[in-house]
Amino acid sequence: METIIKKINIDGFSREDLKEAALFIREGKLVAFPTETVYGLGGNAYDSTASARIYAAKGRPSDNPLIVHISEFSEIGPLVKNVPDVARALSDRFWPGPLTMILEKSDRIPKETTGGLDTVAIRMPSHPIANMLIREAGVPIAAPSANASGRPSTTKAEHVIEDLSGRIDMIIDGGSSDIGLESTIVDLTVSPALILRPGYITLEMLREVIPDIEYDKAVLKRIKDDTIVAKAPGMKYRHYAPKGELTIYEGDISRVSEAIRTSAEEKLRAGHTVGILTSDELLGSYSELRSIYQEEHTGCDVCPDTGSTEPDADKKGMLYIKDIGSRENESEIAAGLFDALRYFDEVKAEYIYAESFTEGGIGQAIMNRLMKAAGYHIITV
Ligand code: AMP
Ligand code: MG
Repeated sequence: METIIKKINIDGFSREDLKEAALFIREGKLVAFPTETVYGLGGNAYDSTASARIYAAKGRPSDNPLIVHISEFSEIGPLVKNVPDVARALSDRFWPGPLTMILEKSDRIPKETTGGLDTVAIRMPSHPIANMLIREAGVPIAAPSANASGRPSTTKAEHVIEDLSGRIDMIIDGGSSDIGLESTIVDLTVSPALILRPGYITLEMLREVIPDIEYDKAVLKRIKDDTIVAKAPGMKYRHYAPKGELTIYEGDISRVSEAIRTSAEEKLRAGHTVGILTSDELLGSYSELRSIYQEEHTGCDVCPDTGSTEPDADKKGMLYIKDIGSRENESEIAAGLFDALRYFDEVKAEYIYAESFTEGGIGQAIMNRLMKAAGYHIITV
């Protein structure tokens, strides 16, 4: 299948620019589009065939439900059995934005869209291209993250092209997703309400509207424990995983960088390709390793001395370091995380080491994704 790539400037576009994409959605075709969280792979949420095509394009297990996207609150009516007051309150506060609500579904939404469940996940994105696309399509758009199942979510059109080109009808390139992590998911069908997936909207923010909201147990687990049953179906699948073996180190920050240096050096000496996911604060502590194991053509974006940007993925025993920002700036870390995991695949890193981040606020979402990417492999030093 030929995939049309359509570039749209977020700062200046018209309805006309989205006409073909909207028509595609109405026709049951698939269109990947930017949102403020990550890119979505969209299809008509009312069309069971379109939903089936989404699962097929991603290689996603069909019991992992899709999030249905709307452009204004009134569009929620046909999707659900009833609209509880708390949904309206959350919408007033956080929509449009990176929050997904789970409600009892109506009969209008086919089970193919909800992975066989009687509930439906709904979100109203704030990204102007996403909003206009939904409005123009005139139907709610079912859209999971636009990545191949199991890979890190996509925050740029180039990532979507990498994973889905030839498998879907159109990719709208609207630049980078600002937030870079998927939406916070809250289940409003249980009491108290539960956070099934942490995101940019934090527990503290949600408690201002729902004082007794809690994390689902599976969100907080730090070890791979299959006895804790995942509430959100998607939580049980392997996620975000880079191809290399990712290990997270936690503890006192200077001991963390020392442990990472030791582990990295051991693998480098043995001729392996190693990646280090670092913050601005720890970058300096790897300078000696860099001077030994990075050559001019590593193209690592933190080698100020090389100027090269093309990684040489076939050379063994190389060190690639990705600095995703300051530990003080959680939004920056969140925005760079998936991009970094994809970068380590590109350079064929066999072993990847990452520091851990604090678990309050958005840090909860960052650590949730990082822990899954590492298969819960975390070492305390
Ligand atoms: P993605 O769009 O790839 O970020 O994944 C969407 C996630 O939303 C799924 O993996 C599910 O965990 C969650 N989800 C969607 N619909 C429901 C639902 N009805 N009940 C519980 N979780 C849901
Ligand atoms: Mg996903």
